Amino acid sequence: MKVLDLACVHGHVFEGWFGSEADYAAQRERGLLECPVCGSLDVEKRLVAPRLNLGKGQPTAAADPAAEGSGLAISPSQRTAWPREVQAALLQALQQVVAHTEDVGGRFAEEARKMHHGEVPARGIRGQASVLEAAELVEEGIDIVPLPDLPLLKKTLQ
Ligand SMILES: [Zn+2]
Repeated sequence: MKVLDLACVHGHVFEGWFGSEADYAAQRERGLLECPVCGSLDVEKRLVAPRLNLGKGQPTAAADPAAEGSGLAISPSQRTAWPREVQAALLQALQQVVAHTEDVGGRFAEEARKMHHGEVPARGIRGQASVLEAAELVEEGIDIVPLPDLPLLKKTLQ
């Protein structure tokens, strides 16, 4: 299973789960990839995605990143637009996450690793990690949760 960060021409970012890179290419070619926010079929791979790390001992949404389709990932096969109340609930949950985590930006992988090795106090952090960095963290047994990069969320956080 391959997790790819995708973005449409309008800059909406979401995650897609594919059997392989070829599977992604095939789906894209056949016009099966659709932005879950605006329905655009002009979707490309993206290199950097927001990630979330919840420090140890925090009972919040520390979903197993290996669990397929869990947490906040959006599957491209799930092509219906989200109902308003679902968006509202998701937004509320994300606001909670944002309120209780520290934004470490591009130092995400570094901080997550330090925390994992007990070099800095465990806490909830969020920030950016590349797909490769995220994969390495998961391999090292560090819990991370992908966050959707909804324009809706950005507006509210400013
Ligand atoms: Zn879009």
